[in-house]
Amino acid sequence: MTTSPNGQDQFLRVVSREEAIRLFDAALGPVRLVAEPRALDRALGAVLAADVLAPGDVPPFDRSGVDGFAVRSADLAGAGPSSPVTLTLTGEEIACGHSPVLPVLPGHAALIATGGPIPRGADAVVMVEHTDPLGPDRIEVRRAALPGQFIGWAGSDMARGETLLRKGTVIGAREIGMLAACGLAMVPAVRPPRVAVLSTGDELVAPGSPLGPGQIHDTNGPMIAAAVQENGGLGQFLGALPDDEPMLAAAMRAALADCDMLILSGGTSKGAGDLTHRILARLGAPGVVVHGVALKPGKPLCLAVCEGKPVVVLPGFPTSAMFTFHDIVAPVLRRMAGLPARAEHRVEADLPARLPSELGRTEFAMVSLVAGPDGLVAYPTGKGSGAVTSFAQADGFVRIEALADHLPQGARVGVDLFTPAVRVPDLVIIGSHCVGLDLVTGALVAQGLSVRTIAVGSMGGLQALARGECDLAPIHLLDPGTGRFNTPFLTQGQMLMPGWRRMQGIVYRPGDARFQGKDSSAALAAALADPDCLMVGRNQGAGTRILIDQLLAGQRPAGYWNQPRSHTAVAAAVAQGRADWGLTIAPVAAANGLGFIPVAEEHYDFALNAARAPSAMLGAFRDALGSAEVAARLQAAGFQPASR
Ligand code: AMP
Ligand code: MG
Repeated sequence: MTTSPNGQDQFLRVVSREEAIRLFDAALGPVRLVAEPRALDRALGAVLAADVLAPGDVPPFDRSGVDGFAVRSADLAGAGPSSPVTLTLTGEEIACGHSPVLPVLPGHAALIATGGPIPRGADAVVMVEHTDPLGPDRIEVRRAALPGQFIGWAGSDMARGETLLRKGTVIGAREIGMLAACGLAMVPAVRPPRVAVLSTGDELVAPGSPLGPGQIHDTNGPMIAAAVQENGGLGQFLGALPDDEPMLAAAMRAALADCDMLILSGGTSKGAGDLTHRILARLGAPGVVVHGVALKPGKPLCLAVCEGKPVVVLPGFPTSAMFTFHDIVAPVLRRMAGLPARAEHRVEADLPARLPSELGRTEFAMVSLVAGPDGLVAYPTGKGSGAVTSFAQADGFVRIEALADHLPQGARVGVDLFTPAVRVPDLVIIGSHCVGLDLVTGALVAQGLSVRTIAVGSMGGLQALARGECDLAPIHLLDPGTGRFNTPFLTQGQMLMPGWRRMQGIVYRPGDARFQGKDSSAALAAALADPDCLMVGRNQGAGTRILIDQLLAGQRPAGYWNQPRSHTAVAAAVAQGRADWGLTIAPVAAANGLGFIPVAEEHYDFALNAARAPSAMLGAFRDALGSAEVAARLQAAGFQPASR
């Protein structure tokens, strides 16, 4: 570690992803697997530490595969439907678990059950269905038998000394069956690496406890412990610690003494919290190997090795933590667990829009897949590295190499899937998001349909619809020229399904005299007259933005350029005092306990391609939308269903 002239530890000497992996692997050296005998009833999910050889033959003796008679095939050479052969019974009934004592001599047969040992002299079994009794001690056979017919030979399933299962196999029910069949009660399993997981940050609160001001719930701790488990480790989540050097140092030392690997998250960025790597420098040799990797998200990743044990500090943002874990840490963990590298599941898809990327960093962008007219289309679910939900909505990710500064619109890209199968949804909705939409799609999901909603704003939705990438594009666009909603924005071949009305209005904190009791024009005048009155704007392309701009008529009050992407964020900014007013919809204002001054009722409708209107999926959506139940729920949430 170098120290800069002002005494601060030098932050991030960024190396490439490949260099980071090489340095980390070199410092770790070869992985030694520890084997432990494991009883069969505890072996599920374990990884074999060594090849397993069959200790004996399975089956251990020649046995019958059917209920019938053990015979000498030569006796039946001439048997046929019109030339039955008569055989004399030995009198012995060979059941499972009983060793026959009488041989089958020429002209004889022995009654045998499925699984019964073949008696001396017999070389075939005939099914009971193909015989007829002829008195108490003789049978008639009307079919020839091939030598070996219906006999399972000793060792035909597994032969003594044969390799049954290979080292590295993950033991499932089938493997347990094989092990049991050859009599093994214990298997050599890899002892799973114990991985301690610690979260760091003064702002963290365990899920289940309420949040104070400025606090967030610890996401990484439970998530990384689970990801460890998914990759063959025993994740032990030790909780979230404040950014306190002595406390953190003690916890890290204790965790490392107990575990094979330590994973922390947070405290890697520059600032007061940047202390974990200072502790790491004293935790054991060689200490920090890499601090700063040209990855996006994930640049502040810190990789260390202390006395042979890997210690990793993941970036604090959950998506960054997850990506760096999967890209850099999981391969090491899997090796320690004896598991093969995770199989890559990859599909090809087209990008619907240009995807910008930072030059010089390997960048990962999460995408949702939808079916377009020429194959799959990959929509970036980009909400920034702080977003956790993008994981749930995404099907996989696209990797943009360090040397590219963007991927062009229409580029064909490889998408690494989070799960092996691509689920192309039944119904794809791309456009403006509304809380009311969840009420309609919820009814469809309850019917077993899969619905994918991608929020890209009204304009983005119409473009996706024109490209044939979605079934429905929810929009709320006011045409200032005609004063009409939505219809003026449709293009050739598109039509509108009426949705609902929602009231847009000014939100403020209750009691704010600049707004309380006023109508919208008086409130607006008061806001514009007060230089300390801060507004919160909306993003370009949002229907609400058009309304804001119309209302402001060219004025740009303080806060206008603060442009969140959702109704909810506007309400949160006002509720928390980061802004004094903004425009949002009535249900969101009510949910946040804000004052509300109605400005304009807007129409939230669904654009669709007329040619697709008769489709069953759109029919199901129309039915759900028109149902009394959904209408009642929309009304309860503050929306006015459009008459249809
Ligand atoms: P840091 O690396 O500590 O500077 O954190 C970067 C960002 O990630 C901050 O916004 C933190 O609040 C957030 N963060 C850090 N740790 C966690 C965690 N365990 N769960 C959720 N967010 C976190
Ligand atoms: Mg922190």
